[in-house]
Order: sequence, then C-alpha cells, then structure tokens
Amino acid sequence: MADCLIAAEGLSRHYRLGGRTVTALADVSIAIETGEYVAITGPSGSGKTTLMKILGCLDSPSAGHYRLDGIEVSGLSPDQLAATRNRVLGFLFQSFLLLPQSTALENVELPLAYAGVPRAERRRRAREALARVGLADREDHRPARLSGGEQQRVALARAVINYPKLLLADEPTGALDRASAEVVLRLFAELNCAGVTIVLVTHDMAVAAHAERVLRFQHGRLVAEDRRAA
Ligand code: ADP
Ligand code: MG
Repeated sequence: MADCLIAAEGLSRHYRLGGRTVTALADVSIAIETGEYVAITGPSGSGKTTLMKILGCLDSPSAGHYRLDGIEVSGLSPDQLAATRNRVLGFLFQSFLLLPQSTALENVELPLAYAGVPRAERRRRAREALARVGLADREDHRPARLSGGEQQRVALARAVINYPKLLLADEPTGALDRASAEVVLRLFAELNCAGVTIVLVTHDMAVAAHAERVLRFQHGRLVAEDRRAA
C-alpha cells in the first residue's frame, strides 16, 4: 500500500436530500498502483461518479481516508488541494466541458496558464499535445466546429498537458460513436504505456475490457473485482 498512487480506505459519502440521507458510497477501500489501468463499472446510480469526484479531490468523503500520491488529502487546505490536483491529475468527463468561445489550442493551453507557464511555451506544448491526439490541423477550430470525438480528444490533450501521473475519466466515451470511442481508447492505451495511471468509469463492458483490472460497483459498494491475465 505504501507506494500506491491511490490508497482509499473505508470511503463513504452521504448526501442530505430533503431531510433524507442518501448513501452514494458505502465503505469503499481501493488501492491503485502507479502505472495501472483500472476500469470502474456498475449500473447508473451505483456511486461511480461520487467515487471519481473524491479521487479527483473535487469532493470530500463523509468518512474514510484517502491518500493520493502519498498525501493525506483531508489534511489539505483548498489552495494545497488545487495545487495537488494540478500537479498529479487530469480529468476527463462525458460532456467535454470545453470553453465554447475558445479555440482548440486555447482550450488545451488553459491548465498551463493557471500553472503560470509563459505564453510561448504554452503555445508550443499545446500544439504538441494537439498533434499527439491527431488534431494538429484543428488548432483554430472552436468546439462547435469539431465532432464529438474530436472535442473529446481536445479535452484529453488538455487533461494531460501538465504530464499528470493520473488520468481520471468518467464515462469519456459515453457520448461518442464506436469509431470515435476506439480512437480515444487507443490514446488511453498509449498514455498508459508511457506510464500514466488510468482510472476509467464506464458501464460498457467492451470499454472496460481495455483495462487490466475491473472494479464493479453496486449500491455504492465495491462488489467484485476482476483482473485480466497478463
Ligand atoms: P453513478 O455515477 O454510478 O451513476 P452517482 O455517483 O452519480 O452514480 O450517484 C450515486 C447515488 O448518489 C445516486 O443514487 C444519486 O442519486 C446520489 N447522488 C449523487 N449526487 C448527489 C447529490 N449531489 N445529492 C443527492 N444525491 C446524490
Ligand atoms: Mg456517473
């Protein structure tokens, strides 16, 4: 557990909803090592997104402990949290969440601007990242002028522009046709080969099959784990 990138123990998350308590996540423990490719599956409402938000430091658990890259996350101030997020992880969502008024290149550059990288280097690295996802010739396109698959590739370039150790992806192929999904999954495989740890949420077993390990959730609990033979 010591050298795990993700070490979560007894995570629970309860929501208060109109006087009722909804348990979205119940006593979940997981350990993910650097370099792994893990899929998280389960029916709608089983707590997958709730878990990803906690793993991505976008939400806090109601109970349990979470160490990310050796750091106890609950002890961090909001500024330290943001810095850790910036340094360690990239996030990809089903809806690509690109800025509609910005070009593909500007969207990819954004995390570098937050990190204080000088403009010329931002440009250079964003160009490189777009080329790596096969979109060198789409730099000046706004999101509305890109297909869904292309938008997700821009979002992927943006997610990995800071060379994160960890890529968290919540249903990244959920809005894509099969061919576009395959392109995104091929890029995931390349990133994983380059050493990036990947946690991928999907309810599609064909997509989950790309991972080495599959964690299955139901009613907020981790109910099964399959490891693919190497
Ligand atoms: P999944 O991603 O597997 O579809 P979620 O993690 O989004 O599941 O949701 C798990 C459960 O928690 C669901 O029953 C959902 O309705 C509930 N839930 C999620 N977010 C909230 C919230 N902000 N307030 C109340 N209940 C929520
Ligand atoms: Mg979800």
